[in-house]
Amino acid sequence: MSLPPLVEPAAELTVEEVRRYSRHLIIPDVGMDGQKRLKNAKVLCVGAGGLGSPALMYMAAAGVGTLGIVEFDTVDESNLQRQIIHGQSDIGRSKAQSARDSVKEINPLVDVVLHEERLDNDNVMEIFSGYDLIVDGTDNFATRYLVNDAAVLLGKPYVWGSIYRFDGQASVFWAEHGPCYRCLYPEAPPPGMVPSCAEGGVLGVLCASIGSIQVNEAIKLLAGIGEPLVGRLMIYDALEMQYRSVKVRKDPNCAVCGENPTVTELIDYESFCGVVSEEASAAAIGSTITSKQLKEWIDNDEPIDIIDVREINEYEIVSIPGARLIPKNEFLMGNALQDLPQDKRIVLHCKTGVRSAEVLAVLKAAGFADAVHLGGGVIGWVNQIEPEKPVY
Ligand SMILES: [Zn+2]
Repeated sequence: MSLPPLVEPAAELTVEEVRRYSRHLIIPDVGMDGQKRLKNAKVLCVGAGGLGSPALMYMAAAGVGTLGIVEFDTVDESNLQRQIIHGQSDIGRSKAQSARDSVKEINPLVDVVLHEERLDNDNVMEIFSGYDLIVDGTDNFATRYLVNDAAVLLGKPYVWGSIYRFDGQASVFWAEHGPCYRCLYPEAPPPGMVPSCAEGGVLGVLCASIGSIQVNEAIKLLAGIGEPLVGRLMIYDALEMQYRSVKVRKDPNCAVCGENPTVTELIDYESFCGVVSEEASAAAIGSTITSKQLKEWIDNDEPIDIIDVREINEYEIVSIPGARLIPKNEFLMGNALQDLPQDKRIVLHCKTGVRSAEVLAVLKAAGFADAVHLGGGVIGWVNQIEPEKPVY
């Protein structure tokens, strides 16, 4: 299924533009017409992180006339392993401004529009309405559903990508011509079931593999060439080095793009995706301790058993003194409970306190009434107690 071009061509290319884009102009499918369409195109990139970095850089180089960047974060040292639009001297700077400077260095002919704010229900419709196409580089489910619903309600296409460790996925969601993200994923996964890249890690170069697919699809949609990735999900396995594509059908019962939609305006995405499950929140009430409290218990030789519920790789990067590792899944599968001491208080921790709260709920249900978990996890511990240790 080929689709008509999203954008009308600009009136002309300047001599400078003809020189710059000559390798595009001699491709028959692109040519002057395609390049003039790119020049006229307005593309919004949500996020200037792992996927946004290669996406923005290649769209800039390709001559997409206007690039919008939604980003409120600042550049952190731990971003540089994959977010190649930023460099060492950008640490601490606004990511949006850092990304703009890189785009301008690659191609000064591009107009860059910064939206230095968190995308939310109050601004998404106004921001999206100024663009022809959205490239989604977000890393959390709440924003993904927000992007999807806003795009469906506005009738805009968007190019989606996601990355985790060695696995990547990409698709084009455009409700007028195919399925949307909700057709593929009607519900957000239960909180804690799918770790984020911050919790699970991501191979830096995977961002380039998936980000470049997103740019490829953006260019095809803008210029109206080729077979767009509408109604197909691209699945990339970097370890096996395999690309697969599977058909995705439009779901007639889809909550937002189906025949009788129940989502006809933006909803509360935080609660739709639930940061912490209800059981975990209930278990954590009155059973959450601070890093200072834990330090006191350790210093006073209190009878406690500190259990780190993260994964082995995380444990090897940084750990709390005396903590032993029992990954969360060992508790969820029921394997770990019989090995727990009955004469010591159990203190659980993870990276930031989300996974440990889930395990706390399991322990409470199994009768460990005085078990507690560490609010803020090992990250909070390092910040407050051992700042010389690394965080990730
Ligand atoms: Zn749908």
